[in-house]
Amino acid sequence: MADFPITRTSQPKPKPADEGLAFGKLLTDHMFLMDYTEGKGWHAPRIVPYGPISMDPATTVLHYGQAIFDGLKAFRGADGRVRLFRAQRHAERFARSAKIMCMPELPVDLIRESFDALVSVDQDWVPRAPGTSLYLRPTIIATDVMLGVHPAHSYLYFLILSPVGSYYKEGVKPVRILASDTHVRAVKGGLGEAKTAANYAASLAGQRDAEAAGYTQVLYLDGVQRKYLDEVGTMNIMLRIGDEVITPPLAGTILDGVTRNSALTLMRDWGLRVTERPITIDEVMQAGRDGRLQEMWGTGTAAVVSPVGTLGYRGEDVTINGGRTGELTQKLYDTITGIQYGRGNDPHNWTSLV
Ligand code: PMP
Repeated sequence: MADFPITRTSQPKPKPADEGLAFGKLLTDHMFLMDYTEGKGWHAPRIVPYGPISMDPATTVLHYGQAIFDGLKAFRGADGRVRLFRAQRHAERFARSAKIMCMPELPVDLIRESFDALVSVDQDWVPRAPGTSLYLRPTIIATDVMLGVHPAHSYLYFLILSPVGSYYKEGVKPVRILASDTHVRAVKGGLGEAKTAANYAASLAGQRDAEAAGYTQVLYLDGVQRKYLDEVGTMNIMLRIGDEVITPPLAGTILDGVTRNSALTLMRDWGLRVTERPITIDEVMQAGRDGRLQEMWGTGTAAVVSPVGTLGYRGEDVTINGGRTGELTQKLYDTITGIQYGRGNDPHNWTSLV
């Protein structure tokens, strides 16, 4: 493992009990920082005590949103060892987000080393109870100080860690999703495939309205015709009609989800007919009315899979699989979590020991 300078905290925080952990509320004792300046490139990687970073109010990220992040998890297996899930693919996506957001090229190997080094320093923070994990949030922000819209010449990389509780304390639970024809998340040529702050800002109003209408999350449709499924607020979407598993293609408006890729890979391993193709909300609703829509689920790092029990669109709700978790959805959940916690075998080498 790379040898980064480490300044250890003199005031370690009390560790929380695994049972009451929520998502993203607690942060660990240390963070990883690294600077970029033109001419010097990425430099000064270091681990320091977790704490505030001070910024000039004219720092460009605060005004123009040149910011990217990613999100991945470390799991403590039954053997007590800590594994990262698909760290390479997350680091590569992070580098792609940087490119889309006009940031300097990212050293993917160094980013991976930062994951390993910081998780190793704070390894006692990786919880042990079933379903718990340590969430890693690598981030880059533009740090030029001036008012004016332009790609910055200086940046800060930081990595912070948060112990998180089990997403499903009472077993996998179907959610209510609202397909929105009023809110748009991204359009082709925009930022949809980058994991950038702006996309989450763009999702706030839709999310607020969906919650007010009694749904959990928004299913976004394409921003031009508002016909084709794009993705959910923080998940990719998949569904099964008859013997075909369908998910929208990576065509520039949606995030290339790591869980999406894992699910597609596994289902292809299992010999299922899996199609990445555009699919309209009308086709999905019709299949829902006819009872041909057997399963629908979201995929994402937070929940792994999230079954959709009810899909709402223009005032109509369709219930999917009687509102219960489908067989394939459950199998994906069991298989992926099995790999993450080192229970099942890992045929694609998705996990790496810290
Ligand atoms: N789409 C969006 C917009 C997301 O924020 C996420 C969560 N990162 C996903 C999809 C799922 O991606 P992943 O499986 O890599 O977590």
